[in-house]
Amino acid sequence: MPEHYTRATESATRHCNRCGRPTQHAVSAGRIGRCLECGPPPGQLSKKQQCDRQRREREARNPKLF
Ligand SMILES: [Zn+2]
Repeated sequence: MPEHYTRATESATRHCNRCGRPTQHAVSAGRIGRCLECGPPPGQLSKKQQCDRQRREREARNPKLF
């Protein structure tokens, strides 16, 4: 079956140079866009960054009592 993209398609598998393997890529109006597995989109914190932030906020609320 030939592979083609419609406007309804939201992602497609393509080889990503950064990931070094086939990954899901965003598709917008039939055009292949950004790799979805190359980390969070701009402006969105990664899981580790979220953990670090939560830990810092918790420590700020509860000063260490040694
Ligand atoms: Zn990638």
